[in-house]
Amino acid sequence: MNNTHQEVPIHKIGCIQPHGILLVLEASELMIIQVSQNTETHLGISPEELLGKKLDRIISSNQIEQIKPYLEEKEFPGMDCLEVIVTNHKNEKLFYIGHIHRYEQTLLLELEKDTNQEEVSLIDFYRSSEFSVSQINNDLTFDQLCQIFAQEIRKISGFDRVMLYEFDYDWHGKVIAESKIEDIDSYLGLHFPAGDIPPLSRHLFSLQPLRFIPDVNYRPVGFFPETNPITQEALDLSFSILRGVSPIHIEYLQNMGVGASMTISLVKDNQLWGLIACHHKTPKFASRGLRMACKLLAKILLLELANIRRTHNYQYQVQIQNKEKDLIQIISNKQNLFENLRQYKRQFLDLFEAEGLGIYLGDHYDTLGRCPRKQQVIELIEWIQNNYHQPIFYTNQLPKIYKKSEAYKTIASGVLVMSLSNNPWQYILWFRQEQKHMVNWAGSPNQLVYLDKNQKLHPRHSFKQWQEIVDGKSLPWQTIEIETAFGLRKSMLEIGFQEMNQLNQLNYELQQKNQDLDAFAYIASHDLKEPLRGIYNYANFLLEDYGDRLDKDGVYQLETLVRLSKKMANLLDSLLEYSRLGRANFSYEEVNLNEVIEQVLDMIKGRWEENSVTLNIPRPLPIIKADGARLYDLYINLLSNSIKYNDKEDKIIEIGYLNETEMLSKFSHHQLHQLNDPPFIFYVRDNGIGISSEHQRKIFQIFKRLHPPEKYGGGTGIGLTIVQKIIERHGGKIWLDSIVDTGTTFYFTLT
Ligand code: ADP
Repeated sequence: MNNTHQEVPIHKIGCIQPHGILLVLEASELMIIQVSQNTETHLGISPEELLGKKLDRIISSNQIEQIKPYLEEKEFPGMDCLEVIVTNHKNEKLFYIGHIHRYEQTLLLELEKDTNQEEVSLIDFYRSSEFSVSQINNDLTFDQLCQIFAQEIRKISGFDRVMLYEFDYDWHGKVIAESKIEDIDSYLGLHFPAGDIPPLSRHLFSLQPLRFIPDVNYRPVGFFPETNPITQEALDLSFSILRGVSPIHIEYLQNMGVGASMTISLVKDNQLWGLIACHHKTPKFASRGLRMACKLLAKILLLELANIRRTHNYQYQVQIQNKEKDLIQIISNKQNLFENLRQYKRQFLDLFEAEGLGIYLGDHYDTLGRCPRKQQVIELIEWIQNNYHQPIFYTNQLPKIYKKSEAYKTIASGVLVMSLSNNPWQYILWFRQEQKHMVNWAGSPNQLVYLDKNQKLHPRHSFKQWQEIVDGKSLPWQTIEIETAFGLRKSMLEIGFQEMNQLNQLNYELQQKNQDLDAFAYIASHDLKEPLRGIYNYANFLLEDYGDRLDKDGVYQLETLVRLSKKMANLLDSLLEYSRLGRANFSYEEVNLNEVIEQVLDMIKGRWEENSVTLNIPRPLPIIKADGARLYDLYINLLSNSIKYNDKEDKIIEIGYLNETEMLSKFSHHQLHQLNDPPFIFYVRDNGIGISSEHQRKIFQIFKRLHPPEKYGGGTGIGLTIVQKIIERHGGKIWLDSIVDTGTTFYFTLT
């Protein structure tokens, strides 16, 4: 069941309240075609008698002539507070106040008795409103202003309670001001659930700003005929001031102990912003004049509220705009927008009142303050991309719309995500922490309505305070913040665009240089290798054919020539491989690391069998997103080294990874953060010769070897450089732990 007051079509409720009469007129001839059933009570003329008559049956032609020009206007908006003299069955003149509006081809005229005796005199009203206005000054807070108006409206209207509700974006209403007689409970600060005022009622409130129910126990008055003869449907009473009240709302008011109510809507920028609700324990009539006076006060209040909000926001607005200006200045003055983003994280974070800033560029995730982890942010961005196709996404209750964020709601219940590019990812994210707070509801919001045994819907009985702890919400993002985010994005894209043009130029030049390099690598590998092979071959022929004619020195020199040329060929091969690695496109797909290791072991089986090697893989390796072929090269290099640089009888090698808990027990949060919060840390461990700490940094340098080639069968000194490059291209890092003579562990991440 819907937890709301039932959505009956209340604008077609088929009845009015009895404190006035309603006449439906055919617009061109002003002929009465439908009337409320209470004309007899008011005028002593039965509905049957009125039907088919022209309006001048009860209102003098003179008066009709005066208003006719208005009625004939195409865009006739309706007229209120028309003073009309109505003739009853005894030909007596009665004073009525009229309200007339057009509905399709008809005019609806509503007449209420002019209750002179209760009328607020113009002087009284002037005095009261002048007093209210005179209390307004620049030092008033928003709440104080609302309070003054609640008091003033109660003073002139005489209702037992006057409350000012403000709607939030969920349409829950909060009582922000109240003036009341002493012996009723206060509702100040309480929240009224959105379901109390269903969307249709809210819509009607914005069409007809004053709703008056002088007696909740009224007897509804139907129409004669029942349906509108032109439309053949129930009469549409959306703009009517006498419209009948839905039974469930009547019961709701009765449960609240209300005998009469008057509600004035506060509409700002065509949006229902709040309500002024006036309640009286017993039936209470407020004259048209009084109602108009209250409506006018509400208008003044709205104007003043807008003023106060503007002044209040002004300071924050100026502050935020200055920060934005400074930020744009900084980033546009420097080269490389995206490097600047990282450098000026503090300024970006300070732009809004947020606790965390994430910058996601390409594969890199950089943070400041309290932020979700990289993987979580990747998933969040993917979710936003799939569900919201807008450059700026914001919410102050992420867990409500995105369940996965429950896990990190304490640090990011609120997010503002700015997308600069989807390909590659360029995102800036501001995070707002959860603000747990208590909400006092007027009755439980979970049980607004219930069905009785006859399946009839009833509103709740209790309006007793009911407390709820609200979680998963942050402070809301203000309009000025959203506007600033849009402005900043635009400026950044403009700066980025200019930069991109420069970059394009640079890229073009670089491409040219790369092509030159490619050509060089080709010459190096092919053209240089050719003569080198010749040198190698001829030196060998010399050794074979003339070796016996040379003395010992001669043979040694020739052997050195062979060795050096072979080494040079190897170096050229490595150089070629390395230079290709920097430019090649990597293809990232799901890779099962266990399969990669299997292929690697297949490849190095020979070396494996020559040595006595024990291999441990404590548990199956995970499946990750990576370039499988490059990971193969990576493991070949690391495993070859761990066999090569190992002089133990029994060589023990372990291949494994650390999961989240193991990572946390071994590394600090800060360290993991520096590593971009990887999902895994991989390692290759051996019990080999180890590397002394002073050499540990050098081993990744190109052509750097710690041993002469004859020792440990060393290579070209490029293996680890290639390993490092592969890892960097994956967005990861490599480092090691080593103890001389005990062993080495190489750790690496791949994101
Ligand atoms: P190479 O091709 O000479 O093996 P690498 O770049 O792979 O070059 O390694 C650089 C140097 O780092 C090696 O010369 C060796 O001294 C040292 N090294 C590499 N791996 C290990 C290891 N597992 N144990 C000890 N030393 C190592």
